[in-house]
Amino acid sequence: MTDKPTVVWLEDVRIEDVPSVGGKGASLGEMINAEIPVPRGFCVTAQAFRRFLDDTGISNELFATLDVNVDDTKALDEAAKKAKDLVLKTKMPEHMQNDIIAAYEELTKREGAEPFVAVRSSATAEDIPEASFAGQQETFLNIKGAENVVVAVQKCWASLYGARAIFYRVKQGFEHESVNISAVVQKMVDSDKSGVMFTSNPTTGAPEAIIEGSWGLGEAIVSGSVSPDTYRIERMTREIGVIIATKKIMVVKDPKTGATITKDVPAYMQTKRVLSDEELYRILDLGELIEDHYGSPQDVEWAIEKGQVYIVQSRPVTTIKKEEGAKATVSTGEQEKLLEGLGASPGQISGRVKIILSLDELDRVLQGDIMVTRMTSPDMVPAMRRAAAIVTDEGGLTSHAAIVSRELGVPAVVGTKEATSKLTDGQIVTVDGERGIIYSGILERAEAAPAAAAAAVAAKPVTATEVKVNLSIAEATERAMATGADGVGLLRVEHMIIGLGKHPHWYIEHNKHDEFIRELEKGIRTVVGAFFPRPVWVRTLDAPTDEFREMEGGEEEPHEPNPMLGWRGIRRDLQDTEVFKMQLQTFKNLIDDGYTNIGIMLPLVQHPDEVRKAKEIIASIGIDFKKVDVGIMIEVPASALIIEDLIAEGIDFVSFGTNDLTQYTLAVDRNNENVAYLYNEEHPAVLKLIDYVIQCCNKTGVMSSICGQAGSDPDMAKKLVRMGISSISANIDAVERVRDAVARTEKQIILEAARDLTEEE
Ligand code: PEP
Ligand code: MG
Repeated sequence: MTDKPTVVWLEDVRIEDVPSVGGKGASLGEMINAEIPVPRGFCVTAQAFRRFLDDTGISNELFATLDVNVDDTKALDEAAKKAKDLVLKTKMPEHMQNDIIAAYEELTKREGAEPFVAVRSSATAEDIPEASFAGQQETFLNIKGAENVVVAVQKCWASLYGARAIFYRVKQGFEHESVNISAVVQKMVDSDKSGVMFTSNPTTGAPEAIIEGSWGLGEAIVSGSVSPDTYRIERMTREIGVIIATKKIMVVKDPKTGATITKDVPAYMQTKRVLSDEELYRILDLGELIEDHYGSPQDVEWAIEKGQVYIVQSRPVTTIKKEEGAKATVSTGEQEKLLEGLGASPGQISGRVKIILSLDELDRVLQGDIMVTRMTSPDMVPAMRRAAAIVTDEGGLTSHAAIVSRELGVPAVVGTKEATSKLTDGQIVTVDGERGIIYSGILERAEAAPAAAAAAVAAKPVTATEVKVNLSIAEATERAMATGADGVGLLRVEHMIIGLGKHPHWYIEHNKHDEFIRELEKGIRTVVGAFFPRPVWVRTLDAPTDEFREMEGGEEEPHEPNPMLGWRGIRRDLQDTEVFKMQLQTFKNLIDDGYTNIGIMLPLVQHPDEVRKAKEIIASIGIDFKKVDVGIMIEVPASALIIEDLIAEGIDFVSFGTNDLTQYTLAVDRNNENVAYLYNEEHPAVLKLIDYVIQCCNKTGVMSSICGQAGSDPDMAKKLVRMGISSISANIDAVERVRDAVARTEKQIILEAARDLTEEE
């Protein structure tokens, strides 16, 4: 242990040197030797740190200081401060200083000028070389000059005694004496762009790289202060999915002082894509080399300076889950059943009830709480994201709460009628989002199931009938992508528009058309970018007047006796043309940016005139029909019965909105619990309309699809495949189930045909 020199060069380090240079240093050395472009530098060894403690005689005092009760926050903070001061204020022996200075001078010689360096902590435990202390110690960026490097090394050493690091070691059962620290001194990459990469999917282990990138130095992403662009590359096909984020800030080196500063990203770069396809492939190629070298998926930090890609760190991915699905469902045990409703989003989870009766109470919902409310609205999405589960009094399986919970992967039970009055604030309950039951107390082994859906993607069957996904909020894009869906069969824009908080007319009255278009474009771009080149059918506005009235500027909305049969869907947009045109302008901007995967879908069509007029307005905006598909929802029996006349207007696709088609065919309000027992999407009349439309579409080469809730039911999916539908669009949580049902049905059809042939012979 003591024979190691103070300084070793990265190129001389190998994986077996973890005890001297920590995991970080050793992995950099390994990569340099595998010819990965890693910025050069050296490590001040853990042995040097140890000799510092011993030779200066501070060990005893130091370790005595650390002997505190770590659950006493005040005592812990005091001990940490005292220990850090001791390390910082004790003079480093001259010979060690000289070794570090000589190494920095050698680096200067190699670089041709005094380089800016990063001084990174790389901690390790003597006996347990693989122990991970990632993120517990500090890193110092843009250090220049030999003396400053010496100071930064000593600061790294002191960071071994931060309160968080002490707490972590005690809780993990490590002796402070057995934990050492090395400092990696590495030439800084003055990156124009940087980020991280998982060489394989960090949840499922599927061969799908996930790369995040933003402008400037990597610190902004690592610290979580910026939302980066996300790119997904299917490693087999090299197909790229892109989600462009709004990158508001960047960390850069101040050219004058050399200090690391945070500044605003110039407006034109905020929504600009950070990485080109070519750069993505270069980063991926390096990731694959590293993964091959180590034989396991890696979590890599990369940086690009003047077009050159560097790898600044790599460590194994430790989050890949195995056999997650098996744990999802649990016994009902002895717990008392408190309430029943509709299981709207699967997963079972326990937590503390927070009853929310008005919007200004949303802050009360903390991470992990069970949010209980009458009904959710788009303003509630941030709180819904924090909630562990959602329970509502009202609403059905197609209500806002149900749709958004499924997209967020949060278990939900809706339509309990009395959750807000029967449950009490602070009560501990378990929500079963599959069966629609709320139990008192904590159920054994209760846990949410969302990861299970993702885990099976690796082995997804290929189906001739495409299986797509429904989306309403841009935040759910990642989860929607993770299903491996063949596209988006329904993107509901009204959730995005209502989520803006201001009525579209408010923007028009305040002459802020551009702001509306920009905001809407941001949400839609996230989805069409992520799925490109897979199709995304974006549906134009379909919000009833009663939902619009709630918004700022919505006071003028007419009071209608029955909003479901009122001024909504395409009939409204054809009168309220300015709002229609603003939506179309967002599509046009995206199409002009090269997103040729957009389909414009018109809701609630009931007459060919509506299609004709809508197409005229679409053309008047300058949208080229060669670059976009146009289709209609089949939600009104009339549109099914005269489908030939609608097809004659020139449409590329139809999609069954069975939520509405069922209510209008059966005269059963989809939101009315009193008649819910009659609501049946598989009623023979509904199926007859659907079958008729599919046959007409197949004769005329028009694509047919379904995006209503019925498309998420595997039994319905089987029927639709036999009818010859071209695609089925399901909710995020149902894509896998539906894909399996589709695959099985397709095989059965082939088998039946083969048997028929054999019988004929
Ligand atoms: C439908 O009616 O089935 C549909 C998908 O539209 P929405 O649920 O938004 O009315
Ligand atoms: Mg509908």
